[in-house]
Amino acid sequence: MPDAMWPVALAIFGAIVGSFLATIVVRWPQGRSVLRGRSACDECGRTLGAAELVPLVSAAMSRGRCRTCGARINPTHWRIEGGAALIGLAAGFVAPGVEGLAGAAFGWVLLTLAAIDAAEMWLPDELTATLALGGLAAGLFGLPPGLEDRLIGGIAGFASLWLIAFGYRRLRGHDGMGGGDPKLYGAIGLWLGWRMLPAVLLIAALIGLGYALFERFRGRAVAGDTALPFGTFLAIAAYPAWLVMVSAGG
Ligand SMILES: [Zn+2]
Repeated sequence: MPDAMWPVALAIFGAIVGSFLATIVVRWPQGRSVLRGRSACDECGRTLGAAELVPLVSAAMSRGRCRTCGARINPTHWRIEGGAALIGLAAGFVAPGVEGLAGAAFGWVLLTLAAIDAAEMWLPDELTATLALGGLAAGLFGLPPGLEDRLIGGIAGFASLWLIAFGYRRLRGHDGMGGGDPKLYGAIGLWLGWRMLPAVLLIAALIGLGYALFERFRGRAVAGDTALPFGTFLAIAAYPAWLVMVSAGG
């Protein structure tokens, strides 16, 4: 496949993967089956036709409503589909080929984790473990960074955030961070290697600060003990870090 085709192919593939990921994001926290895919309307349960399952296009055609019951289709569906398409587009652009496909998969799992953590303050271990194993597999497959950098990144990422969380709990007497955050940071280390970890943490903290200021601007007070989805900020920071790393590494 010519290099110029990779961004397009990964964007289209991303929209398709995204429609499955959106189903996970919408249904998993409700304890519903995600394995059958999005075959029915979330509201009235009517089985959806093939045309209604085309990612992004179907949402645009139906103006975001179910044709039968008129219920507003959860906008999470098209947002995740669009996000996954953009992730694929960017990955194909900076790394046409297998590395781009692997990077897109990294971004798609991050997107899923970010969306679930933002909505539920929960990072499912199964997804974080999938991300970690993917990072190891990419290293074993010979994709940069090297396996040693990845392993150090995995251990350093997990251990550093775990220690911060432990220290915070001892000082303040309550959790300042979700239990899933150190695991996610470790999984990110397995993808990016240890060298990128400080930048990811800094960007995540800045995104969190920006979010808190934005909430305050909207009139919602953010106090020292307000729960913020730090996993979402880590995930949002990690994907651009991968793009920059791959662009710089060539
Ligand atoms: Zn319906």
